[in-house]
Amino acid sequence: MTNKVLTICPYCGSGCHMNLLVEDGKVVGAEPADGRTNEGNLCLKGHYGWDFLNDPQILTARLRKPMIRKEGVLREVSWEEAIQFTAEKLTAIKEKYGPDAIMGTGSARGPGNEANYVMQKFMRAVIGTNNIDHCARVCHGPSVAGLTYSLGDGAMSNSIPEIEDTDLLFIFGYNAAVTHPIVARRIVKAKQKGATIIVSDPRKTELARIADTWLPLKGGTNMALVNAFGNVLIEEELYDKDYAANYVEGFAEYKESVRKYTPEYAESITGVKADDIRKVMRQYAKANKAMILYGMGVCQFAQAVDVVRGLASLALLTGNFGRPGVGIGPVRGQNNVQGSCDMGALPNVYPGYQSVTDPKIRKKFEKAWGVMLPDKIGYHLTEIPHLVLKEDKVKAYYIFGEDPVQSDPNAAEVRETLEKMEFVIVQDIFMNKTALHADVILPATSWGEHDGVYSSADRGFQRIRKAVDPPGDVKPDWQIISELATAMGYPMSYRNTEEIWDEMRALSPKFAGASYKKMEEQGGVQWPCPTEDHPGTPYLYEGNRFSTANGKGRLFACEWRAPLEQPDQEYPLTLSTVREVGHYSVRTMTGNCRALSQLSDEPGNIQISPGDASSLGIEDGQLVRIISRRGRIVARAQISDRVKTGATYMTYHFWIGACNELTGDALDPISKTPEYKYCAIRLERIPDQLRAEQKVRQQYESLRKQMHVGAGQA
Ligand code: SF4
Repeated sequence: MTNKVLTICPYCGSGCHMNLLVEDGKVVGAEPADGRTNEGNLCLKGHYGWDFLNDPQILTARLRKPMIRKEGVLREVSWEEAIQFTAEKLTAIKEKYGPDAIMGTGSARGPGNEANYVMQKFMRAVIGTNNIDHCARVCHGPSVAGLTYSLGDGAMSNSIPEIEDTDLLFIFGYNAAVTHPIVARRIVKAKQKGATIIVSDPRKTELARIADTWLPLKGGTNMALVNAFGNVLIEEELYDKDYAANYVEGFAEYKESVRKYTPEYAESITGVKADDIRKVMRQYAKANKAMILYGMGVCQFAQAVDVVRGLASLALLTGNFGRPGVGIGPVRGQNNVQGSCDMGALPNVYPGYQSVTDPKIRKKFEKAWGVMLPDKIGYHLTEIPHLVLKEDKVKAYYIFGEDPVQSDPNAAEVRETLEKMEFVIVQDIFMNKTALHADVILPATSWGEHDGVYSSADRGFQRIRKAVDPPGDVKPDWQIISELATAMGYPMSYRNTEEIWDEMRALSPKFAGASYKKMEEQGGVQWPCPTEDHPGTPYLYEGNRFSTANGKGRLFACEWRAPLEQPDQEYPLTLSTVREVGHYSVRTMTGNCRALSQLSDEPGNIQISPGDASSLGIEDGQLVRIISRRGRIVARAQISDRVKTGATYMTYHFWIGACNELTGDALDPISKTPEYKYCAIRLERIPDQLRAEQKVRQQYESLRKQMHVGAGQA
């Protein structure tokens, strides 16, 4: 007999509802369910991405027992020993160096909101530091910072279902067909219903192919283009004067800042034709309902927060807020990156985006948690290598559901950082490259094995449910963290996730009315949801009242800055990291699904233009060497006419073709988000392909061997 368990897909912020099909305690399939965002549809990953629950060990092995490194080797131990050892080490480090010598992460992936709530509480109330951050730092951190500045909330102002009912979609640096196929479906539906589609992207993405206008800007020139859009709106008096006068501030400064960014000047920087810049802004201003959607092509630059604020300014100038079908949408990549932010797994805010520096708010949390709390903003995740290697300030790292060796820039520096730390804890479901550096491994239950709540990209709280029992001796993340807190002298004794959720709601006015019961009844609840009788909020800023201190939207423009590392004679090409549709993040989940692992495998690909391939003598499918100032790797050439001459693209899912061996650590000065979308590289042809293929196979086998630690050691 097949049981159906209703849950939410664990692979992207679209938040698709699905049923897991369970037979004899094993997941045997998945089928779409009718959710608010997916209307009974799933993409490839939703259909086939459940298989890792059965631990087929294609890529790496499921962690089944706690482990402690003894004499250099990871050895299986009891939970009692692992918790006691970890508690003693953390206590000793805290006593010797102070609480700020310990860094922790949240997890934007499977664990869910409750586990993130408990983790940030552990770091703040037990360790005594605000050093808690997570991978939003390397993706939509600029959206949180930029949109909070401009509008007051660091989230989508609109909802995924509204996308198909707008008149104009302005898609900036966002490849929805790959990152959020179910959102892409809404974009296609919008086009079918007559919406104008404008796409700004250096690469001819799937959406660029269906766009009415494609603006193929040069990589790293976003701010110049966004300024030019503002220039056209003002110089041609296309902006909404009443709206700007009543609901917006900073107009005079904004006008002055964009004055020099005429379309012709912007063309000289971006390569986008001045006439096209004028044409699309006339269309944008004229549309009754216009919506901006953006993604990593905005956020993963060292000038990202400025561009987010610049894009929000375009929507403010044209009165595109406070109604359905308008606004601005930073579409969150990982399934629960919105949720980890919502839960305060950030160094500057408690759950519900409440500032750690506000004494009144701090007092509220101190009273609830029964301890004094730190008043200083904590460290950002991307600052850790510098703080460890150059300033010797951080000594212990509690890495919860992340794999920074694979996902963070400049992998060699990340490895050196982990090796220099006195104590590294990895809490995860699979062995990964980061776990190879751990002193303690705490194995956790996975999506499908525990209950909880995820937040979809459009602020939607939705229930995830346990479908099967976990393998081995593993525990839910919130329980592991609670046991650790208790062992460190701060008793935490939650009975279930609902109890955690209710504690969080009582402390977070924006989420106060979003009960489990309401989620069951409605299928989900979009925040803000301030009271028990409030149904939730599909779009923000009704009545054009923004969540800023004075209720007004804030305009912003500033000078464009070129990316830090420019191509030169030695490194003549640029590299941008991207995703691919069949894999997810660091690939430990999708790479362990039989159907998905067939789609593409090691060493991964590098997309290059036909012109560059021909001048380097490289053929499609050949292995090539890729070298930057930080490292060298091998990947397979994929020649594509969608790529401009001089540019290359790599996905970050692969171990051998690990593009983060190459990426640099230039950061946005405000959000501290890395410039993954732009660094300088060179490509080299490999004459002996046979030998290179053999070497790739050997390297892959050796890595897989290291990851298969089921026998009890690594
Ligand atoms: S669009 Fe995202 S949430 Fe929906 S099925 Fe695909 S990966 Fe899962």
